[in-house]
Amino acid sequence: MTIAAPTAETRWRCTLCGNLTRFDVTRSSRVIDFVHFDLSGDSKVEETQVLAETVESVRCRWCNAVDQVELVARPGAEESADGGSEQG
Ligand SMILES: [Zn+2]
Repeated sequence: MTIAAPTAETRWRCTLCGNLTRFDVTRSSRVIDFVHFDLSGDSKVEETQVLAETVESVRCRWCNAVDQVELVARPGAEESADGGSEQG
């Protein structure tokens, strides 16, 4: 099953318990690391370029349901045009 990644307008929501905030995400990615060695041989990744990234599974931290997330609109995403007053 492919999980859609959240976007600027959407976020994940667990369909079982309603969790919106805490998930364990298993993902695979293909990246280019810029590895910088110092003279003693210690290395540090100074820059990472992501070539491809796939979310393989998402587990809810509250109820442990796996791949039971749906995309829902973020608060304010629909009304951002006229900027209504928001509480909280
Ligand atoms: Zn849940």
